[in-house]
Amino acid sequence: MTERIIIRTGRVIDSATKFDAIADVLVEDGRIAAIGAGLVADSAREIDARGLVVAPGFVDVHTHLRDPGLEYKEDIASGTRAAARGGFTTVCAMPNTEPAMDNRSVVEYVLREAAARARVRVLPIGAVSKGRAGKELAELGDLAAAGCIAFSDDGAPVWDATLMRRALEYASIFDLPIIDHCEDRSLAKDAVMHEGWVSTRLGLRGAPAAAEEAAVSRDIALAETAGAHVHIAHVSTRAAVDAVRRAKARGVRVTAEATPHHLTLTHEIVAFGALGGEELAYDTNAKVNPPLRSQDDVDACVAGLADGTIDCIATDHAPHAVIEKLCEFDEAAFGISGLETAFGLCMRLVNEGRIELPTLIARLTVGPVCALGLDRYVPGIGTLAVSAPADIVLLDPSAEWVVEPERFASKGKNTPLGGVTLKGLVVATIAQGRVVHESGVPVA
Ligand SMILES: [Zn+2]
Repeated sequence: MTERIIIRTGRVIDSATKFDAIADVLVEDGRIAAIGAGLVADSAREIDARGLVVAPGFVDVHTHLRDPGLEYKEDIASGTRAAARGGFTTVCAMPNTEPAMDNRSVVEYVLREAAARARVRVLPIGAVSKGRAGKELAELGDLAAAGCIAFSDDGAPVWDATLMRRALEYASIFDLPIIDHCEDRSLAKDAVMHEGWVSTRLGLRGAPAAAEEAAVSRDIALAETAGAHVHIAHVSTRAAVDAVRRAKARGVRVTAEATPHHLTLTHEIVAFGALGGEELAYDTNAKVNPPLRSQDDVDACVAGLADGTIDCIATDHAPHAVIEKLCEFDEAAFGISGLETAFGLCMRLVNEGRIELPTLIARLTVGPVCALGLDRYVPGIGTLAVSAPADIVLLDPSAEWVVEPERFASKGKNTPLGGVTLKGLVVATIAQGRVVHESGVPVA
């Protein structure tokens, strides 16, 4: 049983229906029951949303929940708690678990655990290749039947072009996309950060932007040949954005995501830390793959986000244990624990006037849903339409808060943003009609 909830007098923004007005939202039986002014709802819990934005719950198409096998980094309970705190009501779980999500039984385990322990909806992504080894295709048909919404070897690229071509052809039978981590590893071999003046200054091996561009261009060519859908994970370079834009213009089925960190942070963070400083930081918490790039790359990603070349924002939430970051830069694990800072970090783009708030909300809701076709699994997801699932987020765009990683719900405290003030707060999250996160929301 879920309670009746009425969210009063918030600015309701639903990008799918272009609705943007002050209104009440009534939740009943886990669904949106009504939206309008002055709704009457006896015995409903009242949430006062004056001064707040009410939007569909965010959808993350790129989350590493680390479960099964790597629960010391994260598990389904902690990862989905972090999602709820970040305003996400759906997360798509990447298959680089141990064992990899490359067969039906692992997918069934994840769905069973999610049903028992998850705070928000979990949609599984199956592996492209057995053991994510890039040699032999996984049983994509079985994975699709088990409920996988896409296939990916993320963490690793599908480096063999013929395997990628077959994967695209096979996945298109089920009308599912291949999500590729685009990195030419022969160009990016042993790289630990972006190749540029910072890597030179720090004496660290860099990955050239061309390593991403080369892989993106290959995938676009293969998707075009196969007439299949490729989704480019975590786009981080100007050339990749341009390649996706050109491919879309000629009708290739390519979609793309960018992460909050690639939309806002540069490689200088690696050297000087997010708070800035004179001393060289070698901040392992800023070590991520693809690496944080140049300001020019960031600007291109933001422009791509604004014009829709980049369909959605995805966190690439990559939690790690403290010990995996508390070491020399070369040895440290790649990844940022991103669910809980995603909205606040992306709000920088709104606060700096680079994108509009409704656009940001679109790229966190209807954007990912349309990119991966998720509404065929969950009708109404990413919208506030009447009878859609009551996945709702309450946002305070003007509230400032300081990132304190030790207070994350995620087991992964690995963020370069510790101590940074962000403007834009997730006040409450409602997932399928249940309040799963509250941060000081006034409740009558
Ligand atoms: Zn990746």
